[in-house]
Parts: sequence; structure tokens; C-alpha cells
Amino acid sequence: MNKKTLKDINFENKKVIVRFDFNVPISDGTITDDKRIKATLATIKYLQDHNAKIIMLSHLGRVKTEEDKQKKTLAPIAKKLAELANYPVTFIDETRGKKLEAAINNLKAKDLLLIENTRFEDLNGKKESGNDPELGTYWASLAEVFVNDAFGTAHRAHASNVGIATYIGDSCVGFLIEKELTMLNKIVLNPSRPFVAVLGGAKVSDKIDVIKQLLNKADTVIIGGAMAYTFMKALGYSIGNSLVENDKIDLAKELIELGKEKLVLPIDYVTVSEFKDIPGTNTKDCNIADNQMGLDIGIETVKLFNAKLQTAKTVFWNGPVGVFEMNNFARGTEAICETIANLKDAFTLVGGGDSAAAVGKFHYEDKVSFISTGGGASLEYVEGKPLPGIEAIKNKL
Ligand code: AMP
Repeated sequence: MNKKTLKDINFENKKVIVRFDFNVPISDGTITDDKRIKATLATIKYLQDHNAKIIMLSHLGRVKTEEDKQKKTLAPIAKKLAELANYPVTFIDETRGKKLEAAINNLKAKDLLLIENTRFEDLNGKKESGNDPELGTYWASLAEVFVNDAFGTAHRAHASNVGIATYIGDSCVGFLIEKELTMLNKIVLNPSRPFVAVLGGAKVSDKIDVIKQLLNKADTVIIGGAMAYTFMKALGYSIGNSLVENDKIDLAKELIELGKEKLVLPIDYVTVSEFKDIPGTNTKDCNIADNQMGLDIGIETVKLFNAKLQTAKTVFWNGPVGVFEMNNFARGTEAICETIANLKDAFTLVGGGDSAAAVGKFHYEDKVSFISTGGGASLEYVEGKPLPGIEAIKNKL
């Protein structure tokens, strides 16, 4: 990688502003999954060991109204982080101002300070999400070095990543981003073959570019989930009331033409008459009756997808192949998880979001090579798009 990493910078006694991804699920003030916080500890420890004064920022959800602020404060994260890092965390309930600046001036080497949710700055004119130059300049003025370690937002140009990087003297990526890129490069640069991609989820429109890229790069591209019905309709099968994007049928035809035998589609489904967690029926072939909708891949499709995955040496998986949140339609996604987890000598990467949630639900987290912390960012990277949050970081000298 040509971007500076932590080891390229002298942090001794410097004020360092770090963008993390502390966007964790919180219910009634309690953090229900602290994985993302734990994922920042290696970078924090390195900065402490090198005597940096550490100023941290992150977004949490979306902030649209004044009332959202109460639920979206980073206060519970400061508490949890202090526990996990075993070091006090000074929490400043503001995103700018005298109180913040005074607290920063009081920091000693190794100290940790957390700024309030960056998206509070979206309330008056989307300053964070719109990468307002005045805000980026202000945050950059608080420190001497910027570390970006928030992979989940690296595909967005916000004030707290691209903005700060633009206006600060020196910058690098943290350990988490470095690891994400090392892992994703095993897919993007020189994958061991056969390379099999599994794509699912709700919408074709979100995944057109990645399908195109993967049809070039992979040996097999398996399509499941609701996305598959647009392809099946393009091929002339009846899909009943299943989700479909009618404006993407021509595009699906193009992709079928482009992919030829590389593209693998379902051959049967589990269908039901309404979107409810009730037992479904396995279809006899690729057709779905008018009053039914497909919510999972069928038994024969599970066998077909498994057979295609058996010899894989590299697997990239993004998107569930059915409505895995409902127990009656989780079998296909669970089978994919199990097959991927049991592959011998294969590099298996799960793109974040719903596929990561599925791997967690079925307890295969320790049996895949890597689970990305950024669904959107990992997809865009595999698509070959530059990630602005990383592009803005200084190059190695
Ligand atoms: P995405 O965010 O595009 O990756 O979509 C993930 C969502 O797609 C999950 O919440 C799944 O429940 C949903 N999904 C997968 N298969 C189907 C299907 N056959 N019908 C409706 N929704 C589906």
C-alpha cells in the first residue's frame, strides 16, 4: 500500500486526531455489540505506547432532529471504551468550542479524549456529511497528525475523514484499515483460484458494479437473495409476487450475456403467500406461482451452490441468499455459511452488513478468514472504486 501507516509517523508527545468507527448498536443506553469498539484497541494501544495525546471522533447513526441527539450521544461509548482500554476517557459533549479546546490543551501523553458524535454537525446544514471545509479545517486545527481508522465510512467523503486529512500536516491509516485493505487485496489483486463470489441481498441496483467487476475477476459468481428474481424474470421464468426491479431487467439480461456459464442462479426456492415467518413450500422448478413469493433458495439450489463452492480457494460473500432474519427462510443462508466455514485451505472473506450479521447469527465468526467491518466500503473497494477516506491520506515518502 502506498499510504502512510502508523509505523511511518513519529507520535511522541503529539496531538493526534483519530477517526474511528464507533457506530455500534445501542438499546436503552446499553451497547449491545461492542465488536467495533474492540476493533479500535490495537491502534489506541500503539498510539499510547508511542506517547501520543489521543483525540478521537466518530459518528453514531444519523442525526436529523434535536431530539435525535439524546439517543445518539457517544457518552455510553466513552464509558465502554474506558473499560476496554483500561484507561480513563475524557468525554466532551460538544463537537467544537472552548470546552473542547481547553480539554485538548490539558491532555498529557497517552491520554484519551472523545469528541461528541460528528453527525451532530449535520443538524445545521449537513456540515459533517457534506464535508464542509470550515468544519474540516477546524477539526484539523485541533491536532498535528490525523489517523483514519474508520473503514466503514472510508467510501464517503465527510469532514471527519476527507476534511481533516485535507487540512492537516500529516496523516496515516490505522491498523484496522491496514488490515481491511490487506485482506481485500487478497480478493482484488491476485486471488487464489478457483475464486467464487456469492452475492445476495435485496437489490440488484446496489450491486450492479460489483457483479460486473466480479464477472471479470472471479471464476464463478453465485447470485441468491431477492436480487435473483430480477435475473429469473429476465430469463422468462415466472416469479409470482417476489421482489423484483423491473427497470433493471435489461441490465440483468446484459449481465447474463456477459457472465455466461460463470453466472450461477437459483434453480428452486422456498415460497410463501405473504411476507411472514411461516413455513414455506419448496418449488418444483424455477417458476413461482402467481400468489407466492420466494423468500429463500430451495433444497436443489443449496446443493448446486454448495457444489460450486466446494473447490473454491478464494470466496467473497456479500448479502444473504434469503430472508435469514426469519427462521423459516434462514436455511439457505445458514447452508452457505456452513459450507464457506468448512472449506479447507480457502481464503474466505465476508463483506460487512447483513452477511456479517448472518455469520454471527449462525456462530461461524471464528471459521471464516475475515469479516469486513464495512459493507458499503468493502463492496466499493471490490468494485475497483477509490475510497475517498483512504485516498485523502498522505502517501508514503
Ligand atoms: P442488502 O442490504 O441489499 O444486502 O439486503 C439484505 C436484506 O435482503 C436482508 O434483510 C434479507 O432479509 C433481504 N432478502 C434476502 N433475500 C430476500 C428475498 N428473497 N426476498 C426479500 N428479501 C430478501
